[in-house]
Amino acid sequence: MRVVVDQDLCGTTGQCVLTLPGTFRQREPDGVAEVCAATVPQALLAAVRLAASQCPVAAIRVISDAGDDERASADAAPSPAEPERHAAKDQRNPEGHDGTV
Ligand code: SF4
Repeated sequence: MRVVVDQDLCGTTGQCVLTLPGTFRQREPDGVAEVCAATVPQALLAAVRLAASQCPVAAIRVISDAGDDERASADAAPSPAEPERHAAKDQRNPEGHDGTV
């Protein structure tokens, strides 16, 4: 499966890294989350779903090998800081990187 972090949404809380440190990491210097590998073993599906469900901004998408796309349905209501984060996205992610390496 593929796991993708929406780097424009990521709030840099580090929760995904705490939940699954072998799969997620935070890049320097801004703390935006990245996925450590292009593909994630299917055996980690439950753990990845857990990490995705704990993301406060639902920035983690799980894409199955069949192409099904799921995003945690955590409360994804925009926070008051949302416009500021989007305004800053060009500085943090000028090339629109999808979070995989
Ligand atoms: S849990 Fe969500 S907001 Fe926090 S670092 Fe991971 S992707 Fe970003």
